[in-house]
Amino acid sequence: MRYLILGNGVAGTTAALTLRAADLEAEITMVSAESDYFFSRTALMYAFMDRMSLRDLEPYERRVFAKQKIRLVRDTVVDLDATRRALSLASGQTLAYDRLLLAVGSLGARPDWPGLESVREGVSHFVTLADLDRCEHLARATREAVVVGGGLIGVELVECLVFHRKKVTFLVRSPWYWPGALAREESEIVSSHIRRHGVDLHGSEEVAGVQSDPGGRIRVVRTKSGAEFPCQMLGIAIGVVPAVAWLQQVKTPPRMGRGILVSPAFETSLENVWAAGDCAEFQHDGRPTVEQLWYSAKRQGELAARAMLGNPIHYAPPIFFNSAKFFEIEYTSAGAVGEPPAGARTFFFPFPGREASARIVEQAGAVVGLNMLGSRWDHALFERWIAERRGLSYVVEHLAEAQFDVEFGRVDLAPLRSYYREWSGRG
Ligand SMILES: Cc1cc2nc3c(=O)[nH]c(=O)nc-3n(C[C@H](O)[C@H](O)[C@H](O)COP(=O)(O)OP(=O)(O)OC[C@H]3O[C@@H](n4cnc5c(N)ncnc54)[C@H](O)[C@@H]3O)c2cc1C
Repeated sequence: MRYLILGNGVAGTTAALTLRAADLEAEITMVSAESDYFFSRTALMYAFMDRMSLRDLEPYERRVFAKQKIRLVRDTVVDLDATRRALSLASGQTLAYDRLLLAVGSLGARPDWPGLESVREGVSHFVTLADLDRCEHLARATREAVVVGGGLIGVELVECLVFHRKKVTFLVRSPWYWPGALAREESEIVSSHIRRHGVDLHGSEEVAGVQSDPGGRIRVVRTKSGAEFPCQMLGIAIGVVPAVAWLQQVKTPPRMGRGILVSPAFETSLENVWAAGDCAEFQHDGRPTVEQLWYSAKRQGELAARAMLGNPIHYAPPIFFNSAKFFEIEYTSAGAVGEPPAGARTFFFPFPGREASARIVEQAGAVVGLNMLGSRWDHALFERWIAERRGLSYVVEHLAEAQFDVEFGRVDLAPLRSYYREWSGRG
């Protein structure tokens, strides 16, 4: 059996190792245009801040792939012919397969701001290794940078540029930073923390256009409010899109929506072709869903491999979880808290004198989501409480069990508990 995996990210690599564990004889090949070896995309910022070398971003020893007899090919795939079961590479080579996994990931979304098309230098996303290279190169000749986009990648890029002592303007289209994940109260804590790092953070600012200097380098970003922000570097972090545009040009394109359409067993519309990770789109709760999360991509890669091995698979997204840092503020989120379901009630507590808060959402007597700022929490326990449909009182009472050790700045839970008693007494 010849397994071919396009993409050596977490979905592709997990799939390759899962296939090998189950089939010691199969031929397994992974192709990637980006890197020779699997690396942790989520840790890109630590490379930009010189805290880790590129090699440190690799979760596995390089010898693992040789030991597991997984062949690595560094090339760009330019064509897919599912009738001949072959991929064509930019080098002119062809790779044949019996079963193919498309795990092509995402790319930074490109806006159509007026003037952007004529900028030749100074603009970057922060998604790929090439973006990291570009950002490092641009930062050297930058005094003032503008970063656009109010999500996680945006704030990570901002932090990197602050670390390199750039004057950073951070433009967010929504009224407050990251409304998809943070309610206004949490966002205010995070925003003032970001500002304390010297960042000029603006909400409700939408880009109207950009201008370059005579040499083609970015010079200014204009917003719809009429403001102008001079810069020598522009970071675009307005989201990511499945890296599937090239698949529209191939001999046998799979059916696509925003991503590659897959069944709950990760099958695409093409025979012997599966897709997983950031590029896969499936139906969940009657809605088209593309998960662009590390742990989801890992799980999808494993399950897609099992499906390719012939096992019955029915994927449903796990309880949502994310953890991150906004400069020094820890953030842990689990369940449905970004968009609380209808009829939910929310308990919110800002810890006095700390850049920390707890938000717990309950619906029909069961906690459905938690958003915690300023301390490190065990998301696995949060997920268990959600799965076990524990009530708000239970969760408040047991919260201490989910707090990690003092190294990550434990919060004192006594004031939260006493506020909860008062709050719940109010009905
Ligand atoms: C800066 C940053 C921070 C993040 N932080 C978090 C976080 O805190 N938590 C979280 O859950 N998620 C986070 N994510 C998202 C997470 O990294 C992704 O969900 C995950 O890496 C997706 O893995 P994947 O295997 O699906 O795709 P990818 O890692 O994107 O791998 C796909 C690979 O396929 C290659 N490829 C694509 N097309 C071709 C082609 N035609 N030919 C050859 N090769 C091709 C690409 O070059 C790429 O190497 C972050 C992402 C970024 C960029």
